[in-house]
Amino acid sequence: MKYQAPRGVKDLLPPESELFRLLEDEVREVFGRSGFREIRLPLFESADLFARSIGESTDIVEKEMYLFSGKGGESLALRPEGTASLIRAAIEHRLAEPGRLERLFYQGPMFRHERPQAGRLRQFHQAGAEILGSSDPDDDVDLIATVSRHAGISRVPASRLLINSMGCPECRPGYREILVDYLEKNHDLLCETCRRRTKTNPLRVLDCKIPSCQPVLESAPHLVEFLCPASRSHFDRVCRGLEGEGISFTVSHRLVRGLDYYTETAFEWVSDALGAQSTWAAGGRYNGLVRHLGGGDVPGVGLAIGIERLFLLRELAGTLPQKAGAAVHLAVHPLEEAARPYAHRILASLRDNGISAVGIFGQTRLKKAFLQAEREGALFIGLLGGDELSTGTITIKHLATGIQKSLPTFPPEYLSKALREPWTPDPV
Ligand code: ATP
Ligand code: MG
Repeated sequence: MKYQAPRGVKDLLPPESELFRLLEDEVREVFGRSGFREIRLPLFESADLFARSIGESTDIVEKEMYLFSGKGGESLALRPEGTASLIRAAIEHRLAEPGRLERLFYQGPMFRHERPQAGRLRQFHQAGAEILGSSDPDDDVDLIATVSRHAGISRVPASRLLINSMGCPECRPGYREILVDYLEKNHDLLCETCRRRTKTNPLRVLDCKIPSCQPVLESAPHLVEFLCPASRSHFDRVCRGLEGEGISFTVSHRLVRGLDYYTETAFEWVSDALGAQSTWAAGGRYNGLVRHLGGGDVPGVGLAIGIERLFLLRELAGTLPQKAGAAVHLAVHPLEEAARPYAHRILASLRDNGISAVGIFGQTRLKKAFLQAEREGALFIGLLGGDELSTGTITIKHLATGIQKSLPTFPPEYLSKALREPWTPDPV
C-alpha cells in the first residue's frame, strides 16, 4: 500500500519550503508596515457563511467547496477564501462597528476543489488585507499601493494592474438591465454557463473565459459609463490617486464582482509571464458585505494575494527573497565514544548563543560525516577526539575553503563569536 498526497495538494519540501516561508514573511512585513494587524481565522466555517458572502452563483459556491457535516449534522466547509471568515469574526468580536476603522490581515491555506494545473491547487495559500470602516477612495489607493509598491510590480515579471468600478446600489441595477438586454439579444452566441448566469448573475458573465463567448463580451456595454455621480467621483478619485502615486493601471471593463455588496472599485494584478494570463492578486470594495452578513453599516475594501502564483512569478524573475546565511552553522562530529557527552554540551551552548548546530552521531567514517555535514547545509564541521576532549578545544574546518582552526570551547561566547567572524587562517 503506497500513500500519495491527494490530487492538487502539494507537499512543500526544503529548500523550497524555506523560500516559501520567506515570501510569506515578506508579505506579512509589507502588510505590517502599512498598519495591518494579523487576525487568525479558523480553517472551516459554517458552509452557509460562504454561500451567503461569496454568492450562490459563483464557481466557488457552485462547485469548488469542500463540504462536510459536523457530528450534529451541521453543514461545514473548508474555507475557500478569507474575507468571509474575517468579516464574520469582525462582526462577532465587534471590530466592524460604525465609526471604527480597523486594518486586518490574514495568511494561510485555502481549499477549492478545482482542476489542478500550474498555479492552481486544491490547497493553496493566500495572504489578504482588509480595511473596515472607511469608504474613502484614498484607502483604496493606499491598499493598492501597498501591494503594487512593496509586494509586487517591480519584482513580478510582466505584471499589470487592472481596475474597474462596480458602481453602487444606486447605479448598478440600471446597468444590469442594460447588460441583461444585451446578453439576451446575443443569447445564441453564448455558452451554456453564460446563458444560465444571464438570469442568475449577469455581471459574472463578463468574466467568462470560454473563447467562443469573447466577441460578444468584448462589445458588451461598459459599467463605468453608467455610474451615478457619487460612484463616478469615487472611481475618478481612485484613478487620480493612483496616477499621483505613479502606479500605472488599465481600466478593464470586464473585471467584475457579481454580487450586490461588492461596490465601487475592483482590481486585479495579472501577469502573462506564466503563459496563460494569470491573476496573482485581486481585491475590491464591498460596502454592503458587513450588513449582508448581519453586521452594521460598515464599508470595507480588501484584497488577497495568491502566494503560490506570486512564488512562481518571482521565482521566474529571480526575485524571491534570499535566505541569509547557511541553514546550519556548525556540524559537530564526535570521533570517539568518550567525546559524545562533550559534543552534546557544545551543541547546547552554541544553540544558547544563537548558533544553529547539529550533531553528526551515526557516521563512523570521517568521509561520510563530511558528506552529511554538507548535505545538511553546514558552513563548518567541528571534530571532537581525545585531544580536543582533554584540552577543552574543538577542531573546526570551514567546509568551503578547508581552512582549519583549533578553538577553546569555553567560554561559549568566545566560540560563537569566532564562528561569526571572518574565517581566515591563523597567522603562523
Ligand atoms: P481564478 O480566476 O484564477 O480562478 P479567482 O477569481 O478564483 O481566480 P480569487 O478568489 O480572487 O481568485 O483569489 C485571489 C487569488 O488567490 C487569485 O488571484 C490567485 O492568485 C489565488 N488563487 C485562487 N484560486 C487558486 C488556486 N486554486 N490555486 C492557487 N491560487 C489560487
Ligand atoms: Mg477561481
